[in-house]
Amino acid sequence: MSEKKDFVEELDSHVKQNGFIWGPEPEIYNGLAGFYTYGPSGKLLKNKLENVMRDVFRDHKFYEVEAPIIMPKKVWEASGHLETFIDPMVLCSKCDSSYRADKLIEEKTKIETADGFSDEKLLNILDDEGIKCPSCGGGFKKEVHDYNLMMKTSVAGQESYNRPETATTTYLPFKRYWRFFRKKLPMKVFQIGKAFRNEISPRQHVLRGREFTQAEGQIFVHPDHKNSWNEYDKVKETKLPLYSEEMQNQEKKWEMITIKEARKKGYLSSEAYSWCLSVAYDLFVSIGIPKNRIRLREHGDDEKSHYAREAWDVEIRLDSFGWTEVCGVHDRTDYDLSSHDKYSHEDLSVTTNDGKKVIPHILEIAFGTDRPTFAVLDIFFDMEEGVLNIPKHVAPIDVSVFPLVSKEGLPDIAEEIYRQLHEQKFDVEYDDRGSIGKRYARNDAKGTAVCVTVDFDTKKDDTVTMRDRNSQEQVRVKISELSNKLERWLYTDMNFEDLGELV
Ligand SMILES: [Zn+2]
Repeated sequence: MSEKKDFVEELDSHVKQNGFIWGPEPEIYNGLAGFYTYGPSGKLLKNKLENVMRDVFRDHKFYEVEAPIIMPKKVWEASGHLETFIDPMVLCSKCDSSYRADKLIEEKTKIETADGFSDEKLLNILDDEGIKCPSCGGGFKKEVHDYNLMMKTSVAGQESYNRPETATTTYLPFKRYWRFFRKKLPMKVFQIGKAFRNEISPRQHVLRGREFTQAEGQIFVHPDHKNSWNEYDKVKETKLPLYSEEMQNQEKKWEMITIKEARKKGYLSSEAYSWCLSVAYDLFVSIGIPKNRIRLREHGDDEKSHYAREAWDVEIRLDSFGWTEVCGVHDRTDYDLSSHDKYSHEDLSVTTNDGKKVIPHILEIAFGTDRPTFAVLDIFFDMEEGVLNIPKHVAPIDVSVFPLVSKEGLPDIAEEIYRQLHEQKFDVEYDDRGSIGKRYARNDAKGTAVCVTVDFDTKKDDTVTMRDRNSQEQVRVKISELSNKLERWLYTDMNFEDLGELV
């Protein structure tokens, strides 16, 4: 067994055992590929990451909205998804299994991305490389089928679809935003919610689910103001790990370059778009992804979506699956609003304060929360020790409280500490089963940031032991100072031993 496969299996079994991600669900009915349940630890972690993302968006003055998941056919005609949201599928001539031709090629050859290749090119590569059906070893039929990824449903007899992205549903109330934002561009909104894609053969765990959570920021901008962007000055000296199309073609490495320099070199088309890239980068740094595992990769022309003029992806290097796309930043121009204007017969142009009638352009920061959740589990899993060294500010459980023994009043004190910390809005757990060593091990495996033990000394001097997961150092602190110290430990860069006397 290869080392990588070994890691994926160990990680999957670890996250299952510790209540992070279960599936494919329904497990007791053999599972349907691409559907997962977040268990208690997984849901806490996903919530934490989503809240960090909310915080970053709000910091940049975006407002959150929530639109319906199901929309009638007309919407998807207008958005272009009915016609173009398709994958190239090939069929095995022996067992009839279907596969995505581009993904097969990416898995079996050195080609990093086969996205956007013509049918002919895909068939030629399958042939030349001698790629066979993964389930039976047979050859493929010599045709590529268009396979639409949208999940169809019916609402009171009307053909409708589960949304394949939150973006389109965010755009539809455009006229309402215009009034809410008092007829002034730019307008910034974001939506976190479920979307659905009928992937032919989903693999790679929650990285390719058929049901997943997206988090997409949308900015409506004046087409003439993309290069007079107020917030540009704040980010122009920011260095980003850029991997331009030119660097990719020349097989160079990505480079840390300031946004200003990247603009000079012509990598980034506008100030507003550059700002979006910096927000996207900030999102992933803020959830604790190490900077040396992040790069921003420019899309080639044949890779771009039907709506995008400019497109870069944020990619994270995973131990399981290597460089993985986690976010797309797109300049969608007036594609969406013009199309909805045409299909709905509603005038979606606006008159801005310079007296000009325009259809705003849309810049989008599109990502999800399943891939970042998986990335955190992947990156911080120490397979040797069976520990999740999750960054403490997003640890699923902030603090676990133990009574040393279940007698002599210790549980009462521990329960009281639990209650107080919970009131202070920490994610707390109470654990009184097994030896202290076993309780530490259990919490380390789940990524709990800190453990607090109530012992016999607590009764004498009102102090408890605080233990850090990563260093395993322990300090003695007063109960009355516990929540303050915990807060400082979780959200600042201080040293653990500065919290109290080392034990
Ligand atoms: Zn087959």
